[in-house]
Amino acid sequence: MAENQYDLIIIGTGPAGLTAAIYGQRMGMKIAVFGDTPGGNLNMIENLMNYPGFVGGIPGTQFGVTMFTQAQKEGAVLPMARLNLLSHDDEQFMGIGADSRQYFAPTALIACGVIPKTLDVPNVNKKGVFHCSLCDGPFFRNKNATLAVIGGGNMAGQGALSLSKFAKQVILICRGDNLKMEAVTKKAIEKQNNIHLLLNTQVVSFTGQQQIEGILVIIRGEEKKKIRVNGAFLAIGWEPRLDMLDIPVETTPEGFIKTDEKLMTSHPGLFAAGDVRDTDMRQVITACADGARAAIYALEFLQRMK
Ligand SMILES: Cc1cc2nc3c(=O)[nH]c(=O)nc-3n(C[C@H](O)[C@H](O)[C@H](O)COP(=O)(O)OP(=O)(O)OC[C@H]3O[C@@H](n4cnc5c(N)ncnc54)[C@H](O)[C@@H]3O)c2cc1C
Repeated sequence: MAENQYDLIIIGTGPAGLTAAIYGQRMGMKIAVFGDTPGGNLNMIENLMNYPGFVGGIPGTQFGVTMFTQAQKEGAVLPMARLNLLSHDDEQFMGIGADSRQYFAPTALIACGVIPKTLDVPNVNKKGVFHCSLCDGPFFRNKNATLAVIGGGNMAGQGALSLSKFAKQVILICRGDNLKMEAVTKKAIEKQNNIHLLLNTQVVSFTGQQQIEGILVIIRGEEKKKIRVNGAFLAIGWEPRLDMLDIPVETTPEGFIKTDEKLMTSHPGLFAAGDVRDTDMRQVITACADGARAAIYALEFLQRMK
């Protein structure tokens, strides 16, 4: 087999991609995995509490690096580069990495996860507006800060709780008339007396010169109002980014990839796993399970081709 010829090309070094690499290598496949962040979104989880086997949890970053090392030890090639392009000719897939090298394989797996959604309002890209409370929240430690979290789901709830540990006050701004998060998170928020909840509230713009100093909002039925904050965290959901894909695949209207029961996309030999897939649960454990299954189905596909 030529040096740049593989059995499976995987896009994404999150739990789905790394699990697929571990399973696939152990079943005898030659695999290249692309991604520049070992563990993917695991890095956003301060302490992963709901993955079985870790009483008291495990830091997401530690778990991600361990998975990455395990995939390497199993013999997967991990160039620590993103994949810029995945295309397909009559015979196989061709990937072009950010290292400018070409990689070939008869099967490929999209496990590129999702990226945070943003708001279409003035100054949303200004300094002081963040997407990851666990990554950027610690910047405000010991600063007596007032921080806003925008959103009403689990991501917003977890963000508000983690920021409330060191912020003077956290303002949770929710567009709807109730919070759509797990009951346990909602309860924890209600108990936390430095989290202030603003329901029915629309963000109009972020204000400030070099960096944001406030948020202009409309609370239903009231005039525009400015809330002074030192930083704001957007937690309004995620969307897939499939710009590396030069192959048409069927997706939902929101852009999540549709697969059959064997995780194959509408393009033969191309599989999808984890958060990027049209699925009803986006968690570490489901991403790992998807990865394991996708590796087996990719091998089945390879064997049928022979
Ligand atoms: C704040 C937060 C808290 C969470 N808490 C929990 C929790 O407590 N428990 C739990 O089970 N789950 C939790 N999750 C969800 C969990 O992190 C995801 O479900 C899981 O990481 C999905 O794994 P994945 O492999 O599908 O994608 P990801 O983890 O997103 O990994 C995909 C990787 O692919 C990379 N990529 C994208 N495009 C390319 C490309 N062109 N080339 C190469 N690489 C590319 C991405 O940069 C990313 O690193 C949380 C998520 C967040 C954001």
